[in-house]
Amino acid sequence: MSDHSLPDDSRLMIHEILKQYWGFDSFRPLQKEIIESVLNGNDTLALMPTGGGKSLCYQVPALAKEGMCLVISPLIALMKDQVENIRKKGITAFAIFSGMSRKEIVNTLKVASNSNCKFLYVSPERLETALFKEYLPGMDINLIAVDEAHCISQWGYDFRPPYLRIAALKEELPDVPILALTASATPEVQTDICEKLYFKTQHIFRQSFERPNLSFSVFKIDSKINKIIEVLTKVPGSSIVYCKSRKRTKEISELLQLQNIAADYYHAGLVQDDRNRKQEAWIENKTRVIVCTNAFGMGIDKPDVRSVIHTDVPDCLENYYQEAGRAGRDGKKSYAVLLYDEKDLHDLENLTAQRFPPLSEIKNVYQAVSNYLQIPSGGGQGESFDFDIADFLKKFKLNSHIVLFSLKALEQEGWLAFNEQAFIPSTVQFITGKAPLYEFEKSHPELEAAIKSLLRAYEGIFDHEVPISELVLTSLIKKNPEEVKKQLQELHRSGIIFYQPQKDIPQLFLLRNRIKTEDLTINMSDYNHRKEKFRLRCKELIHFIREKTECRSRMIASYFGDTSLSRCGICDNCLRQKAFVLSKEEFENINTRIINSVKDKPIPAQDLLLRLFDVKKEKAWKVIEFLQAENKIEMDKDGLVRIK
Ligand code: ADP
Ligand code: MG
Repeated sequence: MSDHSLPDDSRLMIHEILKQYWGFDSFRPLQKEIIESVLNGNDTLALMPTGGGKSLCYQVPALAKEGMCLVISPLIALMKDQVENIRKKGITAFAIFSGMSRKEIVNTLKVASNSNCKFLYVSPERLETALFKEYLPGMDINLIAVDEAHCISQWGYDFRPPYLRIAALKEELPDVPILALTASATPEVQTDICEKLYFKTQHIFRQSFERPNLSFSVFKIDSKINKIIEVLTKVPGSSIVYCKSRKRTKEISELLQLQNIAADYYHAGLVQDDRNRKQEAWIENKTRVIVCTNAFGMGIDKPDVRSVIHTDVPDCLENYYQEAGRAGRDGKKSYAVLLYDEKDLHDLENLTAQRFPPLSEIKNVYQAVSNYLQIPSGGGQGESFDFDIADFLKKFKLNSHIVLFSLKALEQEGWLAFNEQAFIPSTVQFITGKAPLYEFEKSHPELEAAIKSLLRAYEGIFDHEVPISELVLTSLIKKNPEEVKKQLQELHRSGIIFYQPQKDIPQLFLLRNRIKTEDLTINMSDYNHRKEKFRLRCKELIHFIREKTECRSRMIASYFGDTSLSRCGICDNCLRQKAFVLSKEEFENINTRIINSVKDKPIPAQDLLLRLFDVKKEKAWKVIEFLQAENKIEMDKDGLVRIK
């Protein structure tokens, strides 16, 4: 399609699609513009806050056109939710993610090519070019949507190397438009996204970073728990309290409960059922406060969150803005509160060194991990290992930070992939003979389809445990995921199969064969560049925290390249400014008194303030600072103020 405006019927069509599949009457800000840009065949970058409605921006145009949309998405859990939601609308959708066997992937690709599939979700590490090359030509892809597109930039805050594979995909499909979506990217990262995805022209849509109902404030505080209680008392309603460590989520939640505040805690170390239960209770306002790590919040769309409190300093402004931005989606007045002490800032200053260990340490960790997992030299490529990191740390007496960040460095260089929250697929093995199975099938006709599908789709399932996907089975048996699980459980109880539902165990995936440790190389120039970018991000965050006058909303927006905001008037800095606004008379009065006090001889600043006893201290200081800036007076290192 060429670059001109849409014919009227497509314009009508996108509204009809919105109404028919979602029941919405109108688009949210920028959605329509983005959809039209995509329908006009433009490579497009859309920046919208979390919850802004990015999914619709690719779903609507995909439905408006023939063919299917390929969606690259990094988070398996969210991907599954998306697929389920789309299917509920009667639209065919599939997903390919890590943990699926090659056979399952091939199956899914086949089914997707031969059905009226509209959406194929793929996690980036599954973009195996060879396999995809085979199936792509038969798939009539109308759009490539790249969710969390900032992950493609090495210089961004969440670089994920597998995203770089999307470039190869684009080479295979040069004429298919790309829609890149992200909630936060600095101008530099925006440019990088467009380059890495070979945008033909840069169509960038950026929603304003203005959040007029959200008041940001930052407090330097010794007793953080007291401040949390104070904020929760002053600001009624639903709240999220973010902490850095899992242990602290529980501690703080218990302290809040002692104050009769309905709180619960949440982190990625909890089993899935607990997580779901806690999340639901909070969404339904049965739990008022959820105390959590940053594992909480992804994909959650709760409009009435009144406060988001950060007990610890986050890693970067990108994360801070996303997390804090979960408050006040409904447009009502809400509060984002960040608490810190000097130690937090000190840690932040040292964070870069910790996150980027020296090459010698990285090599050390590579060697230790290879030994621990007993990876044969020259082998291991393409294999996935259970990686019990706690046990590993204990056996090798290594520092957990050094190990984690060395693994990260190895990951970013394409040696391996380590995912602490990796997803282990369910497994099934038949544990009964063929004859009893036949008898069982006859007496349980309702389970026949499940049995037949398992046998057909998974080779070797009689001999050993085979990874299976409930999601794949849903399309084979034509049942929803809950029913599929129930049937598998029943087969398990009846002693027909051994069914082990999916679990979360950290996974280490080798992307290249093990080599001699001394031969391990890292591109140090890229590594150091990433390190420098990281240091700058920390610096920006420290600046944001320490700054006492500039409007907080404006600082955040300009960090993301939006310099159009005027002062919000409701952040702590704006309020402080307002409180200290001096009238002309007040200023003249204080000014004259200061000059008169110091004109004959220098006096200590403390004495000067005493003479201004009837003036608010902040106001007096403001005029003193003004006179210093104007070079009318000066204060020496002993605190003596004199005329200049
Ligand atoms: P994002 O990916 O930007 O975080 P989502 O695509 O998940 O956001 O959408 C967030 C929520 O907003 C969803 O519940 C979605 O149904 C809703 N939504 C999106 N667009 C509209 C619209 N035009 N009108 C009403 N609700 C919308
Ligand atoms: Mg999204």
